[in-house]
Amino acid sequence: MNLILLGAPGAGKGTQAEIICAHLHIPAISTGNMLREAISNGTETGLKAKSFMDSGKLVPDEVVIEILKDRISKDDCKNGFILDGFPRTVPQAEALDTMGVRIDKVIDIEVADEKIMQRLSGRRVCEKCGASYHVDYKPSAKEDACDKCDGRTVQRKDDHPDTIRERLRVYHEQTEPLKGYYEKTGKLVIVEGQEEVKDTTALTLKALEA
Ligand code: AMP
Repeated sequence: MNLILLGAPGAGKGTQAEIICAHLHIPAISTGNMLREAISNGTETGLKAKSFMDSGKLVPDEVVIEILKDRISKDDCKNGFILDGFPRTVPQAEALDTMGVRIDKVIDIEVADEKIMQRLSGRRVCEKCGASYHVDYKPSAKEDACDKCDGRTVQRKDDHPDTIRERLRVYHEQTEPLKGYYEKTGKLVIVEGQEEVKDTTALTLKALEA
């Protein structure tokens, strides 16, 4: 099964992608994670992407399309995959169509902007293993240290309030039109993001069966 998770930054796509991945045994592919890895490895792609990401803008289509194309051609994607954070623009969706990628379902997780501001500005991530925490809802046991690997937990540069506002603006302008794009194909299912992850998960798993 080939799935797309749509939604604003901070709507919970990453968490749901990991849960579906464990459920269906197909890889969850996050272009954001791939780009962050490219930056920390100092690759050419990373160099191209960094300033866009730090300022909350989208990385140019041709850069992300190339890394996505490369990733889904790998063996582990043969039985399907979950795209988390791709496509984010209509040209990216068109590129998937041109590649001949058949999409079975598009799950759009909807969360109000104010809620997203609250979630992302309190998010902390481990520098070492990437585990995610929240200062109010899911604090690590020791302040600034990861429960899993004792790495330092930090605020992502793009989780600063001004950058979150820019990411939301970009989302509404460039990514939200994808709802219409996939609605026309009859593949779109909307899930209202809930307070508790387990409640969103129940709705997401139900959406998979719809
Ligand atoms: P994420 O971790 O999905 O929130 O992505 C973090 C950042 O990576 C985004 O704000 C963009 O700058 C960049 N990014 C990730 N996926 C894409 C994409 N499909 N198109 C353009 N930029 C992307």
